[in-house]
Amino acid sequence: MSQPQRITVLGATGSIGLSTLDVVARHPDRYQAFALSGFSRLSELEALCLRHRPEFAVVPDADSARHLQGGLLAAGLQTRVLVGEEGLCEIAAHPQVDAVMAAIVGAAGLKPTLAAVEAGKRVLLANKEALVMSGALFMQAVRKSGAVLLPIDSEHNAIFQCLPRDYSRGLAPVGVRRILLTASGGPFREMPLEQLPDVSPEQACAHPNWSMGRKISVDSASMMNKGLELIEACWLFDARPTQVEVVIHPQSVIHSLVDYVDGSVLAQLGNPDMRTPIAHALAWPERIDSGVSPLDLFAVARLDFQAPDEGRFPCLRLARQAAEEGGSAPAMLNAANEVAVAAFLDRRIRFTEIASIIDEVLNREAASAVETLDSVLQADARARAAAQQWLVRQGR
Ligand code: NAD
Ligand code: MG
Repeated sequence: MSQPQRITVLGATGSIGLSTLDVVARHPDRYQAFALSGFSRLSELEALCLRHRPEFAVVPDADSARHLQGGLLAAGLQTRVLVGEEGLCEIAAHPQVDAVMAAIVGAAGLKPTLAAVEAGKRVLLANKEALVMSGALFMQAVRKSGAVLLPIDSEHNAIFQCLPRDYSRGLAPVGVRRILLTASGGPFREMPLEQLPDVSPEQACAHPNWSMGRKISVDSASMMNKGLELIEACWLFDARPTQVEVVIHPQSVIHSLVDYVDGSVLAQLGNPDMRTPIAHALAWPERIDSGVSPLDLFAVARLDFQAPDEGRFPCLRLARQAAEEGGSAPAMLNAANEVAVAAFLDRRIRFTEIASIIDEVLNREAASAVETLDSVLQADARARAAAQQWLVRQGR
């Protein structure tokens, strides 16, 4: 029998990381955790190491590394603890690794995810921000190294499942007219507009269908998540922004659809549980049990659809604008959003000011071409500085 595949989980302590380890643990004959990273909640990382016995663990600083290394040694584990971004890139590109789950949240995941891509790994991409920031460079690196890129975002995983095996020459040659990207509409889909400025981080994080990390939960409430996903879809499937239509579907049972020129529309359905796309991407082109219960269509009973309202969700409009502008605009959109969401979670700004900050940053900072990783990082830094200036000016 062949050896289990060795998996690195970047962001093992997060929502996606934990779901990944849940699927991995169901199939010890097929998969084995090779390396795990965590940034906060390091006692949870220690517990995960004790359970999965990886070769490597990565933490943010030397003090935490000493602490974790001591605990693991005392428990009789040989796990080596590495530090910081360098450590993350090392476990992403390590010659013994077969697949990398990229599940760090935000721009912090860019370099380690690119390291996995450049090393030609099977890359399970949850960290959409990395692709949004560096789209052209990222996809060039995939083609150059021969990395196998598999989308974890449930919508993109659904689209991938509804496309033919080979769409490498683009969507038109395989008869695709458009991609229909579904969105739940989040917790504020029907809230009276005048209440939106006063919603709390707790309300924004209480997603009706999915349990996720705090940043992506706020993005879902503002629908910036769908905006980032629109840009993600353009890169993954070589689509123009106008070929991607956002459809609000409050039940989150259809994870997305592909519309073909003959009038056929293919959809992927399932319970809203990230272990389905994770298991799909781990095993592709095979199928494995994910632990997700079968879809009960009688319990679902109905599927609703509506068009998104960009007045209620200005972040969606801003993301579409950045997608059409291209160059460094998506990286700036993402950076301004990260600063704004952190400020909202810190209760320094109102929910509706997230869009105001991003709007101002995109209007003040001209987009430029991005030919190198440095130019991406510079655009990210400029947008963060501009967003910080907004906060200072408003006395937050
Ligand atoms: P989370 O907040 O639960 O977990 C984030 C992980 O990243 C944690 O392990 C954390 O320790 C690590 N991390 C945070 N900041 C870091 C830093 N500066 N350096 C290194 N590591 C850092 O988030 P999540 O919900 O698991 O989301 C992870 C990624 O997956 C995000 O990009 C998100 O958009 C994407 N995603 C998540 C879901 C979901 O259902 N949770 C669905 C689709 C896509
Ligand atoms: Mg998604």
